[in-house]
Amino acid sequence: MSQVRAIRGMNDILPGDTALWQFIEKTVSDLLCQYGYSEIRFPIVEYTDLFKRSIGEVTDIVEKEMYTFNDRNEESLTLRPEGTACCVRACIQNGLLHNQQQRLWYSGPMFRYERPQKGRQRQFHQVGVECFGMSGPDVDTELLLLTARLWRELGVSEAVTLELNSIGSLQDRAAYKQALVSYLEQHLDELDADSQRRLGSNPLRILDSKDSNTQKILDGAPNLSDFLGVEAQQHFAGLTAALDAVGIAYRVNTRLVRGLDYYNCTVFEWVTDKLGAQGTICAGGRYDGLVEQLGGKPVPAVGFAMGLERLCLLVQEVGTIADQLDNSPDIYFIIAGEGLYPVALVLAEELRSAFPSLSMIVHGGGGSFKSQMKKADKSGARLALILGEDEANQGLISIKPLRRADMVQIQVKQAVLAQELASILQTTK
Ligand code: ATP
Ligand code: MG
Repeated sequence: MSQVRAIRGMNDILPGDTALWQFIEKTVSDLLCQYGYSEIRFPIVEYTDLFKRSIGEVTDIVEKEMYTFNDRNEESLTLRPEGTACCVRACIQNGLLHNQQQRLWYSGPMFRYERPQKGRQRQFHQVGVECFGMSGPDVDTELLLLTARLWRELGVSEAVTLELNSIGSLQDRAAYKQALVSYLEQHLDELDADSQRRLGSNPLRILDSKDSNTQKILDGAPNLSDFLGVEAQQHFAGLTAALDAVGIAYRVNTRLVRGLDYYNCTVFEWVTDKLGAQGTICAGGRYDGLVEQLGGKPVPAVGFAMGLERLCLLVQEVGTIADQLDNSPDIYFIIAGEGLYPVALVLAEELRSAFPSLSMIVHGGGGSFKSQMKKADKSGARLALILGEDEANQGLISIKPLRRADMVQIQVKQAVLAQELASILQTTK
């Protein structure tokens, strides 16, 4: 029969890789707890309108990347392409934003119909962090501090740099858009096709163009930073001063705009040159208008999302952490004899109660002593426990160190197995 395959760009994460994923996820959630952030969980599917109204109709995501379908009730639903809109929707709906601040995070799969390649999938995973109710650059700084700490804990600090910009208020941008469009219209023929198309719909995205010719033309374009109003200027000055004070290095990149419509003032990206074209690990900014745009009372907000696949790749590429992760068990329990399973399982349960953090595989499926020994070796376990008929008849059990040539196998009374193991586990660590 023919095999059913996974959907292109939607990858399995296999047992050999989950130790790294779990390590990164735990590091992230512990760190966010340190800073007082609470986890929020929301559905993977939302009404399509939510994303159209927040991300913006003329963005790559809404124009061509969303997984949108009608359900049996003919309602248009979309697999979430990002979490911010969902998070804001959940906060408004559950009254989390009334006269209170929120520091929130979430983690999970996102879906975008893109061309799959290294660091770019159709189902990918993000950790997102969102802060509500704080308008000053202090909280923007906090977000950058906590990401910088995360890079240190994951051993990738040296491989990432922070790019920073202010895109001002909606009004600042409207004025800038006009100036940009009238400049670019004079060079219409020289722009790449995508940029020509965007000139009428989303001209700011042209700043993002990877086309070298377009980039050259942009060198002579008006600068967004010259169009910032006093408020945006002060906010940005406050942010850069705070970053200087806490010792976070950054590069101001005046071409940095974000792909989504809802940002204002601060935008930033943590980028690396170690992963080829997919170099943005973490991206975010301020979105003071979004809550109101989605039907809530106005609440200032700032946040970011990081791509976990790219972070995993980076940790594997540059860090030493990936090599240290090991999901081998501590013990492989060999049961070599007819009818010994009940005795072995009782002993194993006692050990699990005595050593809650011990990882132990109890051999299943029978087989000879020799074949079980092979499996024990292959499992990477430090110790084998061996219950054979001779041992069982005398109330004994054997402990065999598997990775220490200097240590010999010993036989102990089953009744004192836990005590004996405690010291052997210490010495074989
Ligand atoms: P890119 O420019 O790489 O397409 P983006 O601007 O679309 O990124 P965001 O919407 O800001 O990305 O998402 C935040 C982060 O999520 C990105 O920096 C990246 O790490 C990750 N990410 C986005 N799209 C994908 C994808 N298709 N596959 C894997 N990771 C992704
Ligand atoms: Mg994208």
